[in-house]
Amino acid sequence: MVVKDRDGCWWCGGQLIWQGDHDKEDVMGVEGIITHLVCSSCDAFVEYTSTDEEEEEEEGSNKK
Ligand SMILES: [Zn+2]
Repeated sequence: MVVKDRDGCWWCGGQLIWQGDHDKEDVMGVEGIITHLVCSSCDAFVEYTSTDEEEEEEEGSNKK
């Protein structure tokens, strides 16, 4: 198992322990994923939230 730098805590540099992923849909009613991690050193709680805002791409480019 490789621990990458991205697992470091912003506060203390400790290792973040992955807690789990949650469907954003269950919590907020929108599509996406929420990932929770907790620092093993300072107990910082980290939450990653995807932001799939799905900006509606303007079809074509006839916007003049
Ligand atoms: Zn920490």
